[in-house]
Amino acid sequence: MAKKPNVSVEKNRPDGVRVTAAKCVRCKQPVVARFRPFCSQRCSDLDLAGWLTSQYRIPTDETPDGYETEPPADED
Ligand SMILES: [Zn+2]
Repeated sequence: MAKKPNVSVEKNRPDGVRVTAAKCVRCKQPVVARFRPFCSQRCSDLDLAGWLTSQYRIPTDETPDGYETEPPADED
């Protein structure tokens, strides 16, 4: 059985940290597999904080699609 050429998009940095071809969604640096989809714990934390902050700011008058509560079942 012939070995297929390695087409993995992952690379190994000299310092041994596994990174991927993907870019950090915050700072566009190479993503570290451990913190996907971010490059570091810091970016992960910052993104989460940003999410929470904007969640608090967004008015919630409208119900997002697919997030409606089921109508109460009319049990007999
Ligand atoms: Zn980053």
